Amino acid sequence: MKLYSTNNPLHQVTLKEALFNSMPQDKGLYMPAAVPRLNENFLTNLDNYTLPEIAFHVAQHLLGDDIPAEDLKDIIRDAINFYAPVVELEENVYVLELFHGPSLAFKDFGARFMSRLMGYFLEEGEKQLDVLVATSGDTGGAVALGFLGVPNTRVTILYPKGKVSGIQELQLTTNGQNVRAVEVDGTFDDCQALVKQAFTDPELNEKFRLTSANSINIARLIPQTFYYFNAYAQLLKMGKNKVAFSVPSGNFGNLGAGILAWKMGLPVCHFIAATNVNDTVPEFLRTGAYQPKPSVQTISNAMDVGNPSNWVRIQDMFKDSPEQLAKLVSGFSFTDEEDLEAIERLHSYYNYVACPHTAIAWQALKDWQQDQPTGRVAGVFLSTAHPCKFPDVLPAHVAGAVKIPEHVENLHSKTKQAVSLGKDFAGFKKYLLDNA
Ligand SMILES: *Cc1c(COP(=O)(O)O)cnc(C)c1O
Repeated sequence: MKLYSTNNPLHQVTLKEALFNSMPQDKGLYMPAAVPRLNENFLTNLDNYTLPEIAFHVAQHLLGDDIPAEDLKDIIRDAINFYAPVVELEENVYVLELFHGPSLAFKDFGARFMSRLMGYFLEEGEKQLDVLVATSGDTGGAVALGFLGVPNTRVTILYPKGKVSGIQELQLTTNGQNVRAVEVDGTFDDCQALVKQAFTDPELNEKFRLTSANSINIARLIPQTFYYFNAYAQLLKMGKNKVAFSVPSGNFGNLGAGILAWKMGLPVCHFIAATNVNDTVPEFLRTGAYQPKPSVQTISNAMDVGNPSNWVRIQDMFKDSPEQLAKLVSGFSFTDEEDLEAIERLHSYYNYVACPHTAIAWQALKDWQQDQPTGRVAGVFLSTAHPCKFPDVLPAHVAGAVKIPEHVENLHSKTKQAVSLGKDFAGFKKYLLDNA
């Protein structure tokens, strides 16, 4: 597999290089140089395959012969070891639950696949890979649990003290092994600044092989295409073949993966980009002007992004036909009040508890469907996280209806292990050097 930089298509690299560098020097993003169309026979018979089989088929076509088939199968079996069921809520309204992985968020798909790919490409005798991540909640858990036990890697997670939910904190701080947590007396931005400074510090780079494993890594995007194919397979089984996906979006990796699946031949009729008031993309789709802005804090905070990092990838996929983008994708944005109302309605109509990100995707789907002349398109909204991760945001009677998964209950019996640091870089650097 070859990948190019969106800033310079002539600059091509191998999968291994894109995997470990995350971002090209020219500050573009890596994209696959060839996006193969999957064969018709596979696409029309998707319902005959399981999620791991679909994942293997899709990955093999994208990655080419970079990884021998048996090794790729092992990586997928190990990384994608949980379900992504499509649940019917009413006629033509379905939810794709992406929260059955270890960190209870869809980011498990990307983080688990990426970590195993990194483990695979780390050759014997190579220097240990040191992954530094700043998190506002969801990313850290997925990355920590993704790398947990992966040989020759170590993860250091920085999170803002008192600003992540109880379950999120337990997921970050109870792992041990090759994962360590640093509680920073500051905000998420402070955590991010510490990580960024570490990457440019000559002494740290001399001593450690640092990587960010962040959400712009192409190895996080690729596995997210799997669940779109798998969701379509489940709809085929229910007799549906006209499908629209509504995607709760922040950095737009998730929607980007859906569009990549579409480029590979998945017959999706429409995509809906659902955001909170951080509506840079819906505004662009409405007006044609792309105007990034500072992010605004909301109750769906994993989507508080004013300048989505993956948007350039989506634009890149339409560079030959920008008008097609506006036809394929509609944008919707909602306030916190509308989000809370959607959570209430989902609960009262269907007895379904959705997290604040998921509820936005449902509302966007309903609004879009209302404008459609016929109701024949099956709408699937993506549920990106389990509601138990956001207990303080849900209205009390809805929060009371949340069923907490067993492996989360077990977290409560574990002890938090985290180092407390201030937001000054000198202190963080000293910690890294003293704990090499
Ligand atoms: C990260 C995240 C999102 C946003 O996904 P993007 O791929 O960045 O658009 C939405 N919901 C939840 C729960 C998340 O953790």
